[in-house]
Amino acid sequence: MVKQFKGLYINGQWQPINKGFPSFNPSDGSVWADVPDGGRREVRQAIDAAQAALPGWSSEPFTHRARMMTKFADILEKRRPEICEAIMAEGGGWFGKGMFEVGLAADAWHAASAACYGSIGEMLPSEHNKISMATRRPLGVVSVISPWNVPLVLTSRPMAFALAAGNTIVLKPSEETPYCGGLLFAEIAEEAGLPPGVLNVVTCSRDNVPEVGDELIEHPLVKGIVFTGSTAVGRQIAAKAGAHLKKCCIELGGKDALIICDDADMERATSSASFGSFMHQGQICMSVEKLLVHENIYDEFMEGFTARAAKLKVGPTSDHSNVIGPLINDKQAAKVKDQIDDALARGATAVVGGGVEGRFVSPTILTGVTPDMKVYCEETFGPVVPVIPFRTDEEAIAIANDTEYGLSSGVITRDENRGLAIAERLETGMCHINCSPVNDEPHAPFGGVKSSGVGRYGGRWAMENFTETRWITMDRGGRPYPPVF
Ligand code: NAD
Repeated sequence: MVKQFKGLYINGQWQPINKGFPSFNPSDGSVWADVPDGGRREVRQAIDAAQAALPGWSSEPFTHRARMMTKFADILEKRRPEICEAIMAEGGGWFGKGMFEVGLAADAWHAASAACYGSIGEMLPSEHNKISMATRRPLGVVSVISPWNVPLVLTSRPMAFALAAGNTIVLKPSEETPYCGGLLFAEIAEEAGLPPGVLNVVTCSRDNVPEVGDELIEHPLVKGIVFTGSTAVGRQIAAKAGAHLKKCCIELGGKDALIICDDADMERATSSASFGSFMHQGQICMSVEKLLVHENIYDEFMEGFTARAAKLKVGPTSDHSNVIGPLINDKQAAKVKDQIDDALARGATAVVGGGVEGRFVSPTILTGVTPDMKVYCEETFGPVVPVIPFRTDEEAIAIANDTEYGLSSGVITRDENRGLAIAERLETGMCHINCSPVNDEPHAPFGGVKSSGVGRYGGRWAMENFTETRWITMDRGGRPYPPVF
């Protein structure tokens, strides 16, 4: 049955709208939901509602805000099986990914609840014995624009901390996952009893994205923008936000490397490589997109890694044993196929996989990959990984850094000092020693450098993003002025 919605969620009300667009199940191409198609008018209403709710929400006792965040977490947990089904049907996620995603999203709300109890400023010394304070206050209305690949987490992560800091929100989810990244949160807000206008959700079709997106950035009442998505769109959004001098946090694509040193534990190395490359069909911003393996252990590593890849089952996610589901849409499948074809035409070999059937791409391991190939330099966002041998740590670091991106990275070694020395030199916002680059914990500073973004999510770093810092002093007669005045 096609899922229906009562409307957009504006000012605590479901606002019916007579235009809709279809959301597809990528496993079989069937229409999964009929989604309200909002436009400029509805975004303006949502922004006005968020502005009207701001004084109340930002002055609410912090303990009340904290409890509300906990309620969101509890509702997510309570509805886990049903939400997991939606993640599988709407986004093509494997069952295990769905279960994990709901848990991590709930953790983000718990962490935001805890953040409500954190410091909101600091005392500074003053030359004249003033009371001198750096204090933080909410930005105001914050626009949240989220992607489709891990919609629950990537919507919860910015939204929870922005709300905890006392901001109000207008959320626009991806048109590929309008429920799991959008209207689901409207349902939760309603169930939790969030005051009207604090969270507003406007879904829209691809056709309406430009006008809705512009309004979410340029409207004078919007004071902060959080965007998670591709580097191409992120650049445009950051440029527009910059032109309006608005604060923005931009989390973008990646081309992450996992470096396997010659002293690596082989079980850890092959499982980190398999999870990092193929979890959610490689559609994670931190997926392993370059696997760098020391030449001394190359053969032994490849034996274990190819065996792991070959046993991953591919197919519709309604069957829970299919770990590799479909790519999100035909466009993404065509892009991944093009990268495989380009690599093979230029001399690479698919030692495992290489097959593309509709939106289903088998886990693919490529060898003989060279810098002139698309798969070496462009983000793939599919279950395809080039394996490149190296001789020295220096060489591995150079290949890992040979990209415009700088999101996450991983190093597998039994020598922790060696791991730290390599981590120090990788040009990424995050690095994980003896683990895959795919890591996210809601209290840690998450984010990239270079073309992977600006700003950090998580914990106190998120609270800094979503607040303005002010300097307030109180003089008790200590500061002398020149007598001439
Ligand atoms: P996308 O850039 O196509 O879309 C992201 C969001 O931006 C969607 O909601 C989309 O509707 C919206 N959008 C598109 N054009 C817009 C415009 N002109 N104005 C305003 N909004 C606009 O990205 P995607 O395909 O949804 O997601 C995949 C990309 O996201 C990959 O590159 C991936 O690496 C990246 N990503 C990054 C992170 C991170 O935390 N760094 C996390 C997940 C995904």
